[in-house]
Amino acid sequence: MDTDNRDGAPAAPAKSPSRARKANRKPSVFEVAGKQFGRAADALGLDEHLRTILSQPKNELIVNFPVRMDDGTFQLFKGYRIQHSNIMGPYKGGMRYHPEVHLDEVKALAAWMTWKSALLEIPFGGAKGGIKFDPTRHSRGELERITRRFTHALGSNIGPEHDIPAPDMGTNSQTMVWMMDTFMNSGSRERKNAQRGVVTGKSVTSGGSRGRSKATGQGLVYMVQEWSEENAFNLDGARVSVQGFGKVGAAAAQILNRLGCILVAVQDHTGAIINPEGIHPKRLKEYIGRTGGVAGYPAGDAVDKETFFGAEVDIFIPAALEMQITAETAPLLKCRLVAEGANGPTDLEGERILAEKGIHVLPDILANAGGVTVSYFEWLQNRRAEQWTLEDVDTRLHRQMVRAYRTMRRLSNEHRISNRTAAYLHGLMRIQEVYRERGIFP
Ligand code: NAD
Repeated sequence: MDTDNRDGAPAAPAKSPSRARKANRKPSVFEVAGKQFGRAADALGLDEHLRTILSQPKNELIVNFPVRMDDGTFQLFKGYRIQHSNIMGPYKGGMRYHPEVHLDEVKALAAWMTWKSALLEIPFGGAKGGIKFDPTRHSRGELERITRRFTHALGSNIGPEHDIPAPDMGTNSQTMVWMMDTFMNSGSRERKNAQRGVVTGKSVTSGGSRGRSKATGQGLVYMVQEWSEENAFNLDGARVSVQGFGKVGAAAAQILNRLGCILVAVQDHTGAIINPEGIHPKRLKEYIGRTGGVAGYPAGDAVDKETFFGAEVDIFIPAALEMQITAETAPLLKCRLVAEGANGPTDLEGERILAEKGIHVLPDILANAGGVTVSYFEWLQNRRAEQWTLEDVDTRLHRQMVRAYRTMRRLSNEHRISNRTAAYLHGLMRIQEVYRERGIFP
């Protein structure tokens, strides 16, 4: 039964006006993440003290730091690094640059990283961070100074054996290379090269892994392929819509296109377009590279949000922000599968409606785990001073993700629970086992 409140807020009936207001408001991202965790904890019968420990992050770091702008003025930035759990290995998770970054969001994203790494059986914990600002409004020079100053402010709170950032929304391989270089130059000279693994998602030339830039999209497509096999669904000619055409959405759309899928609708922060004849993902990506967004793309009709969500497709891929599939948008969806590229794109009501409509869900902690999996490969390559071939990376990624998919489906069938709860369950079982062996210090 879904009655947990994992954020520690009182669960009494709403009587006073403030309680009533609270009962009527939508749950926050962290509350949604807490409910998802609670469902799996119930299904597993998770030890009570582990519920308490895992319901909050271990460390919450907030830094305010000044940066000189191009015009000589100074601006103060707020940066976050939330470390949820390191019971399975070093903290691991992306760095987000976005105007909406806030503590509650980063706490949820950090917890999702813990469950994701545990599900994929990667020896990492969970973390997330970011800076609350709009990176599209800054020059390259300002972005570099913001990133370097943030890395400096984080100091020894990150490190290749401690906490390993990666790209997320608004950041990329260049951001990671600046972080790496700043960190390497802040430590001792003789250990400089051993610090390369402080971040993943670097460019291949600066120590990144082949296949990392497409890894999240690639992993998502491997999961869609598994789903299509299990459901005897032909991907050739399948219709797809994608929300968010950045690192994840564009890569997934391009790889699916090579398998014969037709991209018919795309939405990003600038607008939405539809073309029932098919949108060419590579050309759209080039257009966005030039203009900054899908708005105005000539080979498609501009549509509103409702029309975008209501597009007749087989597969919908949310690959932008959290809480996009909701009580308002879920009823509009006309698809067979939601493959969650974004973290936390579906809220609790959205999830209920999808289930009611019989729409299958490949949950975020599985569907977008290709990124952290290849990040792990990058970290291994850095430690061993190796560079793997793309074929090697893709083969290992496929093996690791298919194993997680099959485990999730087995648990879902055995326990009659949703894919999401089943995915959590496997991760939680592994974490519980380790806690039971190690105990709590002292
Ligand atoms: P990105 O910055 O490369 O792209 C983000 C996209 O979302 C852009 O197309 C942007 O226009 C769009 N967007 C932003 N606000 C929007 C809005 N309000 N409505 C519609 N679209 C909007 O980011 P990304 O790395 O592709 O990350 C996308 C999602 O995938 C995030 O939820 C992220 O946490 C998740 N994710 C990313 C990775 C990774 O390796 N990059 C790994 C796992 C999960």
